[in-house]
Amino acid sequence: MNRISHWVDNGVRPGVSGRSAPVHDPATGEVSAHVDLASTAEVDAAVSSAAEAATEWRETSIAARTRLLFRFRELVEANRDELARRLSAEHGKVLSDAGGEVARALENIEYACGLAELLKGGYSEQASGGVDVYSLRQPLGVVAGITPFNFPAMVPLWMIPNAVACGNTFVLKPSEKDPSAPMFVAELFAEAGFPPGVLNVVNGDAEAVNHLLTHPGIAAVSFVGSTPIARHVYTTGTAAGKRVQALGGAKNHMVVLPDADVDLAADAAVGAAYGSAGERCMAVSVVVAVGDVGDALVDAVAARVDKLVIGPGSDPDSQMGPLITREHRDRVAGYVDAGEQAGARVVVDGRQKRFDGDGFFLGVTLLDHVTADMSVYTDEIFGPVLCVVRAETYAEAVGLVEANPWGNGAAIFTRDGGAARRFQHEVSAGMVGVNVPIPVPVGYYSFGGWKDSLFGDTHMYGPEGIHFWTRGKVVTSRWPDPATSSVDLGFPRNH
Ligand code: NAD
Repeated sequence: MNRISHWVDNGVRPGVSGRSAPVHDPATGEVSAHVDLASTAEVDAAVSSAAEAATEWRETSIAARTRLLFRFRELVEANRDELARRLSAEHGKVLSDAGGEVARALENIEYACGLAELLKGGYSEQASGGVDVYSLRQPLGVVAGITPFNFPAMVPLWMIPNAVACGNTFVLKPSEKDPSAPMFVAELFAEAGFPPGVLNVVNGDAEAVNHLLTHPGIAAVSFVGSTPIARHVYTTGTAAGKRVQALGGAKNHMVVLPDADVDLAADAAVGAAYGSAGERCMAVSVVVAVGDVGDALVDAVAARVDKLVIGPGSDPDSQMGPLITREHRDRVAGYVDAGEQAGARVVVDGRQKRFDGDGFFLGVTLLDHVTADMSVYTDEIFGPVLCVVRAETYAEAVGLVEANPWGNGAAIFTRDGGAARRFQHEVSAGMVGVNVPIPVPVGYYSFGGWKDSLFGDTHMYGPEGIHFWTRGKVVTSRWPDPATSSVDLGFPRNH
């Protein structure tokens, strides 16, 4: 049986806690590996290694750091298929989708390769007579990332390249459900030539997370996962004096106005709702059909859904793979039961679809006439279930988005530029799509939601990422002539 351990000082560090968790191949239901779960002492060892590396790493020149990041970028590029294969084998997503995840991860490494520009400060000559003022951004020290199962390569790479580019050393605690991809990332990182301890990986569960959150050696924590855990990470980490950004769950609405192109909107809704089996934080889980577009849109979505090919991620014909665990699959099916009982119309019933073997497969479901009081609407399902809510007017549709506790992404489909502009101006979401259903910002913007989709004030990666991983310092400098020096007890004023 394959065993997945920790990664410390550029090598595999076998776990000694005596605790482990099974890792599954979701397409067969079989256990493919066991992952070691770190004890607090093992977390301490990883943090100590990172602390030891931090002193030299922050002194490493921008030029040297840049070269290492470029080499890392080349290695990830050269191994993109293998990385996609490893993450698909434990996550279940289809290979083409896994390839897209790696492509978006590469974007973030490429952004970090520009650290020479990103870390430039400002300089004001002669701010006062003979006085110059300049600003620096400096690393925080040892920082930590805690990541979810649904993007096992991309989300760690939202964090690591920018954090180390800024001069920090990094301890990653990936999801225990699919740890092989982040371990492979760590191998490639070492192969690129990064010194031991700049990136350590501790596999584990709540015990490791909670220890990182209160560990005096950790300066900042970046978290991505579900809202209850994000809230816990934010309150615990900040109470321990750390800088924390904690990205949570979502319920993303796609508003379709009566003038929208129905085929275009249906294509977009199907891709965004069922891609990666709905296990994306930017998945569209609610379509709000405004006015008389509803019937045509539901018919168009249903016609497309019938043709979807569901199967193992490794099969090039599959468009959608299994869910992450058996329990999660059953939980998602339970939501469909609850929606039906509450009065939603089951247009396509994923529960009826039969699959060979013991994989964690579930067919896709389309629910129409969903209302805001149903659990299929109020909860994040995180599965292949699309809810259609009918609204009479644009204002009613936007009212739904506003009343929702999450605010990760929101999209509008229309031909009306004025309506689209009004929507992007007034909607309470961190990422807005205009005829784009999954508006994940490119690596040189920043990613993050509003409301219960993000705790903290800094979004992930891009310019806000660089800000998160550094702290500012302003230097006021004077080189006076000793002959003109005198004692002055007044508050310094500029002249
Ligand atoms: P999760 O919250 O269960 O786990 C995330 C991380 O927290 C994992 O590393 C896990 O080991 C750890 N964890 C789990 N329970 C914990 C506990 N009680 N105490 C301390 N740590 C704990 O999330 P998941 O199921 O892995 O991922 C899916 C969720 O992540 C969804 O809600 C999805 O919307 C969200 N997500 C959000 C974004 C975003 O950018 N906003 C991106 C991806 C995923």
